[in-house]
Amino acid sequence: MTHRARKRFGQNFLSDPNIIRKIVDTIAPQPGQNMVEIGPGLGAMTDPLCARLGHLTVVEIDRDLIARLRERYTPEQLTIHEGDALKFDFATLGPDLRIVGNLPYNISTPILFHLAGFAAQVRDMSFMLQKEVVMRMVADPGSGDYGRLSVMLQYRFRMARVFDVPPGAFRPVPKVMSSIVRLVPRPPAALTAKDEVLLGRIVAAAFGQRRKTLRNTLREFIDDAALGALGIDPGLRAERLAVADYVAIANACADAAPA
Ligand code: SAM
Repeated sequence: MTHRARKRFGQNFLSDPNIIRKIVDTIAPQPGQNMVEIGPGLGAMTDPLCARLGHLTVVEIDRDLIARLRERYTPEQLTIHEGDALKFDFATLGPDLRIVGNLPYNISTPILFHLAGFAAQVRDMSFMLQKEVVMRMVADPGSGDYGRLSVMLQYRFRMARVFDVPPGAFRPVPKVMSSIVRLVPRPPAALTAKDEVLLGRIVAAAFGQRRKTLRNTLREFIDDAALGALGIDPGLRAERLAVADYVAIANACADAAPA
């Protein structure tokens, strides 16, 4: 039976065999590796991944697609988790985890923030996302794409845009261009924020009103003198600061906070 793509689940299925091969080659699965695919859908990537790994775990929200997967694969080949990847505890899948997926574009940002929380046990992640989102993930300071997503993900991961995928590779055909992005967690020693929740709040405040200066947006966290002591001009806007600057601000605030 043919499956009718559900918009609410962001369903655009890969249908170009050359692109599928190229993505799987980029992921380069090796037998026995601990891998989970988010949103296997009709199995475009699941089939070749499973063939190379021997066993794969998947997280899928659509019951109809789950029923198909159960028919097609044995439990030895595929461990199926039915449910919302945004609520899934990836820590239950064990260490050295590789996470892959052609992600539902309607939830791309929340899913990236959710996955960032599991970086400590992840080996790497390879995703297909809207190109525009990938450009924001990998953007450098000073560019219009540089924002909260760039800072919070670059703090935790090294990231690279690998290649672009045109709309014609999917059915139904989406309106937007897509890109493959690869994320590799930074070593724990490189994560130097004393309070990561505070770092997140400061970055959100700075970019919440990106046209305003840091003096205004960070008023509740830090004053001009303390910014100056860090070598940061309070008259700058959020997009001018590097990730390390945000970490320095967060650490100065953490040090200043009453114990
Ligand atoms: N991997 C398939 C492919 O490349 O053809 C399907 C990709 S499609 C863009 C996104 C997939 O994610 C669909 O199978 C959809 O049902 C599933 N999905 C959507 N929202 C989800 C969620 N919150 N949790 C888990 N899976 C989800």
